[in-house]
Amino acid sequence: MAAVRTKKRDQPAGAVGVLPARPGRERSERETEEIRALLQGRYDELCAEFDEATVAVEAMRLEQNTDRAGDDEVDSGTKASERERALSLIHSIAERRRQVEYAMVRLADGGYGWCEGCGSPIAVERLAVFPSATSCVACQQVAERRVA
Ligand SMILES: [Zn+2]
Repeated sequence: MAAVRTKKRDQPAGAVGVLPARPGRERSERETEEIRALLQGRYDELCAEFDEATVAVEAMRLEQNTDRAGDDEVDSGTKASERERALSLIHSIAERRRQVEYAMVRLADGGYGWCEGCGSPIAVERLAVFPSATSCVACQQVAERRVA
């Protein structure tokens, strides 16, 4: 089989604003604002996902109630497990939303985004990926090595 050559596409400019991490310094006002916007964006996303999942589960529930007569046992079993999966998705969304909400509260009192291990500010790009991160990359790696 011939190797397929994929052309590398350029990243859209300004898609991700990655700041260099400089451990040991204070967090600037601008950076705090950036984190606030980031958390707010994540929160809004989770709210939308939550609503979507809730609507989906409600639709499944209605469907289950209305055409149960035509289902054989396998069918209704599949539908029940589908609904269970959707419900557990809702729970995980709600949990993530709760974490983001908590992060916003802590950010407001200045207690968010600091490494529990070394006290340095956690890099903004790390918080963007893991809003509930409580340690910087270096400390996280040390902790992971300890576990492994
Ligand atoms: Zn650290």
